[in-house]
Amino acid sequence: MPGYKRPCRFCGNLVDENSAACPFCSRAHPLQMVCPHCFAPVQAAWTVCNACAKPLVIPCPRCNAPAGPDDDICGKCHSVVRYRCPACAAVIAPGAKRCERCGTKLKDFWKSKGP
Ligand SMILES: [Zn+2]
Ligand SMILES: [Zn+2]
Ligand SMILES: [Zn+2]
Ligand SMILES: [Zn+2]
Repeated sequence: MPGYKRPCRFCGNLVDENSAACPFCSRAHPLQMVCPHCFAPVQAAWTVCNACAKPLVIPCPRCNAPAGPDDDICGKCHSVVRYRCPACAAVIAPGAKRCERCGTKLKDFWKSKGP
């Protein structure tokens, strides 16, 4: 069955509803704001996920500005706030060998990010 398409909430292009990331703007979870850890739907005002109790707003490692569930890049200093699995868009620890959620090997992903 072909996937049902809906507009990406970042760029407005139509994306498949099962997409982990928008193929046009490459933002994660293009249709709904979700917890970056367990993928439960979350509201913009929440600071902690109702489902897994992990923090949704984390400080930027460089400038300490708060970064919400959609802010993978700091809006203030443009540092990377969190990395995501290229296959499923779950948060991955910097340098992790595999995605804890889907098991994708991340060696090539870190290579593509450079040293
Ligand atoms: Zn998009
Ligand atoms: Zn969660
Ligand atoms: Zn920052
Ligand atoms: Zn994954």
